[in-house]
Amino acid sequence: MLILLSNDDGVWAPGIAAARAALEQVGEVWTVAPDREQSASSHSLTLQRPLRIHHIADRILSVDGTPTDCVLVAVNQILGRKPDLVVSGVNAGQNMGEDVIYSGTVAAAMEGTVLGIPAMAVSKMLTDRHHPDYAAAARVAADLARRLADWPLPPGSLLNVNVPDLPYDEIKGVKVTRTGTRVYRDVVVEKIDPRGRPYYWVGGAPEFSGGEDTDWHAVDSGYVSATPLHLDMTDHRSLETVRSWVGKPS
Ligand code: MN
Repeated sequence: MLILLSNDDGVWAPGIAAARAALEQVGEVWTVAPDREQSASSHSLTLQRPLRIHHIADRILSVDGTPTDCVLVAVNQILGRKPDLVVSGVNAGQNMGEDVIYSGTVAAAMEGTVLGIPAMAVSKMLTDRHHPDYAAAARVAADLARRLADWPLPPGSLLNVNVPDLPYDEIKGVKVTRTGTRVYRDVVVEKIDPRGRPYYWVGGAPEFSGGEDTDWHAVDSGYVSATPLHLDMTDHRSLETVRSWVGKPS
């Protein structure tokens, strides 16, 4: 099995190295990842300048672009064919609730889906950012990669996986979930630069909410969360509402 591995934390991130080691038990892994961190780059493409590929080691390459660029370049140029599976991660930090809209990790997997390749994004909740351990999340990624390859999702679907910050043996299992809701507090912080001018930094600590069937609830309870996502963002519930007023005179 040929596996394309990417991420949004960059090719040197410890999460992607752990994923590579674990996925090598599943198939032949090609790492094609951004040359620097691209977190929250969403599904952006680089169109205003050329992209360069750097060979770092055997089957490990970087691209000076976004996660989406990496998957496109990997499939069209580096591999020259579709891999059997695209895996993105393991990301440093969760991608739950509305995180999936901003996430470069999810976007890399989603680009695989756009290209018709089974795909999975894997993110790990971090309680200690200074001593993260990705081994358990990487093992979970390998477990689920085997299943996803054997039982692919329908066209247009991908799997978004979030792993709690626990040793592998303490993870209670896998729950299939829907995306919950994220609330960020202090989203834009104002500070003063050394010349006395204000500057602004987007950030803040997320808080999540949602029922027992949500990604947040699963991870908070010690389970791996596996959420199937779909490319079709049509709000089917609103079709009739919009149809009911769109033809009416204002
Ligand atoms: Mn990231």
